[in-house]
Amino acid sequence: MTRIGIIGGGAAGIAAAITAARNDREAYVFILEQKEKAGKKLLATGNGRCNLTNRQADGSDVESCYHGGNIRFAGEVLKQFGYADTRSFFASMGLVMKERGDYVYPRSDQASTVLDLLDLELKRLGVEVFCQARVQSVLWDRSDFCLEAKVCKQGCEKKGRQSRQIESRELSQIFKADRIILACGGKAAPAFGSDGSGYEIAKSFGHRMTPVVPALVQLKVKEHPFAKASGVRTDAKVTALIDGVPVAEDTGEVQITAYGISGIPVFQISRHIALGLYRKKRAEVLLDLLPEYTAEEADELLIRMAGRHTGITMGECLAGIFNQKLVPCILTLAGVRMQARISETDRRRIQGIVRQCKSVCLRIQDTNGFENAQVCAGGVRTDEIDPRTMESKRVKGLYLAGELLDVDGICGGYNLQWAWATGSIAGRAAAKGRKVS
Ligand SMILES: Cc1cc2nc3c(=O)[nH]c(=O)nc-3n(C[C@H](O)[C@H](O)[C@H](O)COP(=O)(O)OP(=O)(O)OC[C@H]3O[C@@H](n4cnc5c(N)ncnc54)[C@H](O)[C@@H]3O)c2cc1C
Repeated sequence: MTRIGIIGGGAAGIAAAITAARNDREAYVFILEQKEKAGKKLLATGNGRCNLTNRQADGSDVESCYHGGNIRFAGEVLKQFGYADTRSFFASMGLVMKERGDYVYPRSDQASTVLDLLDLELKRLGVEVFCQARVQSVLWDRSDFCLEAKVCKQGCEKKGRQSRQIESRELSQIFKADRIILACGGKAAPAFGSDGSGYEIAKSFGHRMTPVVPALVQLKVKEHPFAKASGVRTDAKVTALIDGVPVAEDTGEVQITAYGISGIPVFQISRHIALGLYRKKRAEVLLDLLPEYTAEEADELLIRMAGRHTGITMGECLAGIFNQKLVPCILTLAGVRMQARISETDRRRIQGIVRQCKSVCLRIQDTNGFENAQVCAGGVRTDEIDPRTMESKRVKGLYLAGELLDVDGICGGYNLQWAWATGSIAGRAAAKGRKVS
């Protein structure tokens, strides 16, 4: 009987286990998961609603949805297991899905539905899930993989007829497997168990890494000009500049926080900022607070507003356009007093205000840390992995899947899609591969 051991019971590990067990009903498939339950992170995804895939995630336009050192690798993977395959995978377990634009969610709008169905399928297939089992190291003795884990055992003491729970103990245990799938995630959101330990295991097999930085994360602004507008949400275009060169942009609802900026467009550009900062470069974000207007149109808009009533102040003039908390910040940046009368403000000054609104330059001091990031950019290099099987090119019988790899997606279901795709491909290949002898 083939033994397939999966390290990490997140999205990728669970998909791998289900697919392996479906493809080889004789195999003994087991998951070692260090948290008290597999799939905990899934419950937090999509604000508790689990945005499980995206209609665009089929590998055809991979450059606009994924990043990584070798983006062709991601394309090859997603062409084998794309959006439609994810839908079939979940439909086969009885999940009814719905869409918001291209984003796909469970119809129930509950991430727990997704996890419950995955759990049920693991049970149906007889996959053994060991929780509170943290893999410390893996050895390969050319016939078996030996997974050394710290396993938490709940103690029970018997006194006569009564038994009582005693303090749990951590014991070392060895699990043997013919093939293993490494699916430990990255370092983002370590509260859910992804603490970077998978990188060490991959490195112990000779795998090389690209630098790992937080991604889909908030940005901290140096001398934040909008600190007083904390809590405001405003439509804006954000452009990431590294040493003055634009590298990425996105438009949508930006959230102003006391320390910086957040929101989906900020998340989308954050990996570029994080990598720039990692390389000790100057990182800035240009904020366009009037993205729906060209500079000329914005100029006209302000002139029109100003011409409405010569008795009003500049503050009152902008109040019809922006959230009221933003107005004093914008005017301070433009060097114009809130109380300045429109009648006293010449056209040049108004153009100065427009320039500010269209391109506020925010110097980025840092990103928030891994604990606040949704994913990591960087990871295990993908040129050392076969995209058709997810098998390591270094060690036969070792497969790698999920966020551990040097591929990160934008917001919108792309990261879970990556986890389901790589997990399923690895599971199928591990079940079909010949026994290592
Ligand atoms: C708050 C939040 C919201 C998100 N929302 C979305 C969303 O809506 N859509 C989307 O596409 N993506 C979303 N993501 C990203 C997505 O959740 C991840 O990309 C995805 O879960 C990665 O799957 P994975 O299986 O590779 O890793 P993980 O889900 O991180 O799973 C890795 C598992 O391995 C276990 N593990 C680690 N090391 C060991 C070890 N040594 N021994 C045993 N077990 C170990 C961990 O405990 C963990 O359970 C979100 C992320 C966060 C944090």
